[in-house]
Amino acid sequence: MIKAVRGTRDLLPPETALWNFVEAAARDVFRAYNFQEIRTPIFEETQLFARSVGEETDIVAKEMYTWEDRARAQSDKGLSLTLRPENTAGVVRAYIEHKLWERGLQKLYYIGPQFRRERPQKGRYRQFYQIGAEVIGPPTAGSESPARDAEVLEMLATFLDRLGITDWTLGLNSVGCPNDRAVFNEALRKALEPVAAKMCADCQRRAVNNPLRVFDCKVPADQPIIDKLPRISQFLDEGCRKHFTEVQEILKVIGIPFTLNDRLVRGLDYYTRTAFEFTHGALGAQNAILGGGRYDGLSESLGGPQAPGIGFAIGEDRLVMSLKESADAVARKPDVYIAPLGEGMNREAARLAHELRRHDLVAELGDESFRPKKSLETASKMGARYALIIGENEVKANAFALKNLETGEQVSVPRSELARKIQGNG
Ligand code: AMP
Repeated sequence: MIKAVRGTRDLLPPETALWNFVEAAARDVFRAYNFQEIRTPIFEETQLFARSVGEETDIVAKEMYTWEDRARAQSDKGLSLTLRPENTAGVVRAYIEHKLWERGLQKLYYIGPQFRRERPQKGRYRQFYQIGAEVIGPPTAGSESPARDAEVLEMLATFLDRLGITDWTLGLNSVGCPNDRAVFNEALRKALEPVAAKMCADCQRRAVNNPLRVFDCKVPADQPIIDKLPRISQFLDEGCRKHFTEVQEILKVIGIPFTLNDRLVRGLDYYTRTAFEFTHGALGAQNAILGGGRYDGLSESLGGPQAPGIGFAIGEDRLVMSLKESADAVARKPDVYIAPLGEGMNREAARLAHELRRHDLVAELGDESFRPKKSLETASKMGARYALIIGENEVKANAFALKNLETGEQVSVPRSELARKIQGNG
């Protein structure tokens, strides 16, 4: 038997109702903040991720699904392509390619699958889904403003509240500008030199290649060492410090609670200044539901114009896991089960189903070979509110037996009044 590939999974009903619920809420909330949808391709040139996410990151170093595209001519080398491991790079590429800066500040959101070859576990998949957004534009459009950071964070809080997720924590940090980072990296490298040998294998590698990543370490024995390392907060220049203070001040005024966390450095190279993460207690080890931050130099590093930006990506798989709602509660059940009873009744039943569906009713259609008892059982099992019985007498009278499956009450309803009655307005 062929099974879904390790780290991928099928999303089945009724659970997909929760996914739709989350996505509909996202579209609705983002709309209120004047965001619009963007859809970029699922694969891009490998270079795009190497140059934006960063060669030294875990994602690019070991987690990408990369292949060589078939060459056009035999002498050509095939182009290296990669399934997108995240969507910010694609959005910024599109921003540059379509000169979106000519249209002023861009507020874009996306919903879709991402691919990383990580070790699968609960809440971690190789194909997973992200809901994300980016605010990006020329500095003259205000894209650098701390007001944008605060707005994005407030939008996220509103979105989580809308989903009934209340016990979240917003961790906030500033990772500074590239200049601050260079000085900080040097200080870190120095501080790590005498202690790296006592740390886990990953940290020993990080200490050399990408010292910042040491802060991602979860190994308990390493924590006392990490606690003593210098922090980026001590290295912020005047501009970054002021920017970060203003973000915090706005958040305080609009009442968005946050916790400063100067260990929060985020996994990708392109982050500058504000970095954040929302976590959720109930999720266990993989407790980060979303992360994001500023990426003020990303456009330039991809050959574009200066285009400061800030964005986030929500892990939709984890978000769905943390919902209190059950799939059954958000799934739309059939309003009516149509039961053709007796030979020759399928046609009339199909006609009625067609009419009722045009009134935005969810109608399920039975088959004339079913007995009355079986029809009603089937209807109840799928949670239909009504059963509509189509027999020869009903067709003759042009009035049909409508049974309320909650109360058991049954009435005869003329055809012209059926839709209104089922909608509950009649
Ligand atoms: P990142 O793009 O790494 O900042 O991730 C943003 C969010 O995507 C995280 O907070 C997670 O919720 C989610 N995420 C990242 N990687 C995975 C994965 N392999 N499986 C499921 N969710 C993930």
